[in-house]
Amino acid sequence: MKLLIIALDGCDLEIAKKLNCKNILQKRYGYVNNDVGVPELPSTLIWYAFLKGELYPANKYNPKIFYDLLSSKIEDTIFDEYNSVVIDFPCYGSTDVFKGEIRRALSSEEEKTKFILKRLRKFHEKFERTKSALKSRKDADIIAVHFYLLDLMQHIYKDASTFYIFVDRCLPALFNIADDRLILIVSDHGFKDRMHHGYGFWSLNGDMDLGFPHFKDFRSIIRRLLR
Ligand SMILES: [Zn+2]
Repeated sequence: MKLLIIALDGCDLEIAKKLNCKNILQKRYGYVNNDVGVPELPSTLIWYAFLKGELYPANKYNPKIFYDLLSSKIEDTIFDEYNSVVIDFPCYGSTDVFKGEIRRALSSEEEKTKFILKRLRKFHEKFERTKSALKSRKDADIIAVHFYLLDLMQHIYKDASTFYIFVDRCLPALFNIADDRLILIVSDHGFKDRMHHGYGFWSLNGDMDLGFPHFKDFRSIIRRLLR
Protein backbone atom coordinates (compact mmCIF):
# COMPACT_ATOMS: atom_id res chain seq x y z
CA MET A 1 0.00 0.00 0.00
CA LYS A 2 1.06 3.58 -0.62
CA LEU A 3 0.42 6.22 2.00
CA LEU A 4 -0.75 9.82 2.31
CA ILE A 5 0.11 11.30 5.71
CA ILE A 6 -1.77 14.44 6.73
CA ALA A 7 -0.52 15.87 10.02
CA LEU A 8 -3.03 18.26 11.60
CA ASP A 9 -1.11 19.98 14.34
CA GLY A 10 -3.16 20.55 17.49
CA CYS A 11 -6.35 18.94 16.18
CA ASP A 12 -8.33 17.86 19.26
CA LEU A 13 -10.15 14.56 18.82
CA GLU A 14 -12.99 15.49 21.18
CA ILE A 15 -13.61 18.78 19.37
CA ALA A 16 -13.50 17.07 15.95
CA LYS A 17 -16.06 14.53 17.24
CA LYS A 18 -18.29 17.21 18.73
CA LEU A 19 -18.27 19.14 15.44
CA ASN A 20 -18.92 15.95 13.49
CA CYS A 21 -15.80 16.40 11.32
CA LYS A 22 -16.30 13.19 9.38
CA ASN A 23 -13.41 13.74 7.01
CA ILE A 24 -10.91 14.36 9.78
CA LEU A 25 -12.16 11.29 11.64
CA GLN A 26 -12.32 9.07 8.53
CA LYS A 27 -13.31 5.42 8.96
CA ARG A 28 -11.35 4.49 12.09
CA TYR A 29 -9.72 6.64 14.74
CA GLY A 30 -8.12 6.49 18.15
CA TYR A 31 -5.92 8.32 20.60
CA VAL A 32 -2.13 8.49 20.52
CA ASN A 33 0.06 8.74 23.62
CA ASN A 34 2.14 11.89 23.27
CA ASP A 35 4.18 11.75 26.48
CA VAL A 36 7.58 13.07 25.42
CA GLY A 37 8.78 13.96 28.93
CA VAL A 38 8.00 17.71 28.62
CA PRO A 39 4.63 18.75 30.13
CA GLU A 40 4.05 21.60 27.65
CA LEU A 41 3.78 19.00 24.84
CA PRO A 42 6.04 20.83 22.35
CA SER A 43 4.94 19.84 18.86
CA THR A 44 8.50 19.50 17.61
CA LEU A 45 9.31 16.80 20.19
CA ILE A 46 6.16 14.87 19.33
CA TRP A 47 6.81 14.98 15.57
CA TYR A 48 10.43 14.07 16.24
CA ALA A 49 9.25 10.85 17.95
CA PHE A 50 6.86 10.18 15.06
CA LEU A 51 9.58 10.52 12.40
CA LYS A 52 12.41 8.92 14.30
CA GLY A 53 10.75 6.13 16.26
CA GLU A 54 12.46 7.28 19.44
CA LEU A 55 12.20 10.15 21.93
CA TYR A 56 14.27 13.30 21.77
CA PRO A 57 16.25 13.43 25.04
CA ALA A 58 13.93 15.54 27.24
CA ASN A 59 16.84 16.80 29.34
CA LYS A 60 18.35 18.37 26.22
CA TYR A 61 15.17 20.25 25.36
CA ASN A 62 14.47 23.88 26.23
CA PRO A 63 11.93 26.22 24.61
CA LYS A 64 14.74 28.13 22.88
CA ILE A 65 15.48 25.23 20.54
CA PHE A 66 11.83 24.81 19.47
CA TYR A 67 12.25 26.69 16.19
CA ASP A 68 15.70 25.24 15.50
CA LEU A 69 14.22 21.77 15.73
CA LEU A 70 11.22 22.75 13.63
CA SER A 71 13.35 23.80 10.68
CA SER A 72 16.20 21.33 11.15
CA LYS A 73 16.25 18.25 8.98
CA ILE A 74 16.82 15.29 11.24
CA GLU A 75 18.35 12.25 9.65
CA ASP A 76 17.40 8.58 9.53
CA THR A 77 13.63 9.06 9.70
CA ILE A 78 10.75 6.97 8.40
CA PHE A 79 10.66 9.28 5.36
CA ASP A 80 14.25 8.36 4.48
CA GLU A 81 13.45 4.66 4.50
CA TYR A 82 11.02 5.01 1.60
CA ASN A 83 10.46 6.89 -1.63
CA SER A 84 8.86 9.90 0.05
CA VAL A 85 7.57 13.28 -1.07
CA VAL A 86 7.49 15.58 1.94
CA ILE A 87 5.64 18.82 1.27
CA ASP A 88 6.47 20.33 4.64
CA PHE A 89 7.02 18.64 7.98
CA PRO A 90 8.36 19.70 11.40
CA CYS A 91 11.92 18.49 12.12
CA TYR A 92 12.21 17.68 8.42
CA GLY A 93 13.41 21.03 7.13
CA SER A 94 10.09 22.81 7.65
CA THR A 95 9.99 26.31 6.21
CA ASP A 96 6.71 27.04 8.00
CA VAL A 97 8.17 28.93 10.94
CA PHE A 98 6.02 31.37 12.91
CA LYS A 99 8.45 32.72 15.49
CA GLY A 100 6.91 35.66 17.39
CA GLU A 101 3.75 35.61 15.24
CA ILE A 102 1.35 34.43 17.95
CA ARG A 103 2.43 37.15 20.35
CA ARG A 104 2.14 39.79 17.63
CA ALA A 105 -1.28 38.50 16.56
CA LEU A 106 -2.57 38.90 20.09
CA SER A 107 -1.41 42.51 20.30
CA SER A 108 -4.28 44.02 18.26
CA GLU A 109 -7.29 43.11 16.13
CA GLU A 110 -5.49 44.31 13.03
CA GLU A 111 -2.49 42.08 13.70
CA LYS A 112 -4.83 39.19 14.41
CA THR A 113 -6.52 39.59 11.03
CA LYS A 114 -3.15 39.78 9.27
CA PHE A 115 -2.03 36.62 11.05
CA ILE A 116 -5.18 34.68 10.12
CA LEU A 117 -4.88 35.68 6.45
CA LYS A 118 -1.23 34.71 6.39
CA ARG A 119 -1.97 31.33 7.98
CA LEU A 120 -4.82 30.64 5.54
CA ARG A 121 -2.49 31.48 2.63
CA LYS A 122 0.12 29.12 4.05
CA PHE A 123 -2.51 26.37 4.41
CA HIS A 124 -3.67 26.92 0.85
CA GLU A 125 -0.14 26.86 -0.55
CA LYS A 126 0.73 23.55 1.14
CA PHE A 127 -2.67 22.13 0.23
CA GLU A 128 -2.12 22.90 -3.47
CA ARG A 129 1.39 21.44 -3.38
CA THR A 130 -0.05 18.26 -1.85
CA LYS A 131 -2.63 18.07 -4.64
CA SER A 132 0.12 18.41 -7.25
CA ALA A 133 2.19 15.70 -5.59
CA LEU A 134 -0.78 13.33 -5.49
CA LYS A 135 -1.24 13.83 -9.21
CA SER A 136 2.38 13.84 -10.39
CA ARG A 137 4.14 11.55 -7.90
CA LYS A 138 2.08 8.40 -8.03
CA ASP A 139 5.34 6.48 -7.65
CA ALA A 140 5.92 7.83 -4.12
CA ASP A 141 5.42 5.37 -1.27
CA ILE A 142 4.76 8.23 1.12
CA ILE A 143 3.37 11.71 0.46
CA ALA A 144 3.39 13.71 3.68
CA VAL A 145 2.19 17.17 4.66
CA HIS A 146 1.82 18.98 7.97
CA PHE A 147 -0.66 21.81 8.54
CA TYR A 148 -0.24 24.30 11.38
CA LEU A 149 -3.55 26.11 10.94
CA LEU A 150 -5.60 24.46 13.70
CA ASP A 151 -2.83 24.68 16.28
CA LEU A 152 -2.17 28.35 15.64
CA MET A 153 -5.84 29.36 15.52
CA GLN A 154 -6.39 27.64 18.87
CA HIS A 155 -3.54 29.66 20.38
CA ILE A 156 -5.50 32.73 19.30
CA TYR A 157 -9.11 31.64 19.86
CA LYS A 158 -10.59 29.63 22.69
CA ASP A 159 -13.18 28.39 20.20
CA ALA A 160 -11.71 27.67 16.77
CA SER A 161 -14.67 25.59 15.52
CA THR A 162 -14.85 27.53 12.26
CA PHE A 163 -11.35 26.42 11.35
CA TYR A 164 -12.09 22.77 12.21
CA ILE A 165 -15.07 22.85 9.88
CA PHE A 166 -13.01 24.63 7.22
CA VAL A 167 -10.24 21.99 7.31
CA ASP A 168 -12.79 19.19 7.38
CA ARG A 169 -14.53 20.57 4.27
CA CYS A 170 -11.18 20.94 2.45
CA LEU A 171 -9.99 17.36 2.95
CA PRO A 172 -12.15 15.61 0.29
CA ALA A 173 -10.25 17.58 -2.38
CA LEU A 174 -7.20 15.54 -1.36
CA PHE A 175 -9.10 12.28 -0.70
CA ASN A 176 -10.65 12.38 -4.17
CA ILE A 177 -7.30 12.34 -5.95
CA ALA A 178 -5.48 9.98 -3.57
CA ASP A 179 -6.41 6.90 -5.69
CA ASP A 180 -6.14 3.84 -3.48
CA ARG A 181 -3.60 5.33 -1.09
CA LEU A 182 -4.08 4.63 2.55
CA ILE A 183 -4.70 7.95 4.29
CA LEU A 184 -3.30 8.47 7.76
CA ILE A 185 -4.35 11.65 9.53
CA VAL A 186 -2.45 12.29 12.72
CA SER A 187 -2.52 15.03 15.34
CA ASP A 188 0.10 15.60 18.00
CA HIS A 189 -2.10 16.94 20.84
CA GLY A 190 -5.44 18.45 21.70
CA PHE A 191 -6.28 21.87 23.11
CA LYS A 192 -7.90 23.41 26.15
CA ASP A 193 -8.10 27.14 26.97
CA ARG A 194 -5.60 28.01 24.23
CA MET A 195 -3.00 25.58 25.61
CA HIS A 196 -1.76 22.22 24.34
CA HIS A 197 -3.70 19.55 26.18
CA GLY A 198 -4.48 15.83 26.16
CA TYR A 199 -3.57 13.11 23.71
CA GLY A 200 -2.94 13.14 20.00
CA PHE A 201 -4.98 10.99 17.63
CA TRP A 202 -4.82 8.99 14.42
CA SER A 203 -7.45 8.32 11.79
CA LEU A 204 -7.43 6.00 8.79
CA ASN A 205 -9.56 5.53 5.70
CA GLY A 206 -9.09 1.77 6.03
CA ASP A 207 -10.34 -0.83 8.46
CA MET A 208 -7.14 -1.29 10.48
CA ASP A 209 -7.29 -0.54 14.18
CA LEU A 210 -4.05 1.00 15.38
CA GLY A 211 -5.17 0.84 19.03
CA PHE A 212 -3.60 3.33 21.43
CA PRO A 213 -0.01 3.68 20.22
CA HIS A 214 2.71 6.07 21.32
CA PHE A 215 4.13 8.53 18.78
CA LYS A 216 7.40 6.64 18.71
CA ASP A 217 5.50 3.52 17.55
CA PHE A 218 4.55 5.13 14.24
CA ARG A 219 7.80 4.29 12.56
CA SER A 220 6.95 0.59 12.82
CA ILE A 221 3.23 1.20 12.23
CA ILE A 222 4.02 2.98 8.94
CA ARG A 223 6.31 0.15 7.87
CA ARG A 224 3.42 -2.22 8.51
CA LEU A 225 0.91 -0.05 6.62
CA LEU A 226 3.24 0.16 3.61
CA ARG A 227 3.63 -3.58 3.31
ZN1 LIG B 1 0.85 24.96 19.51
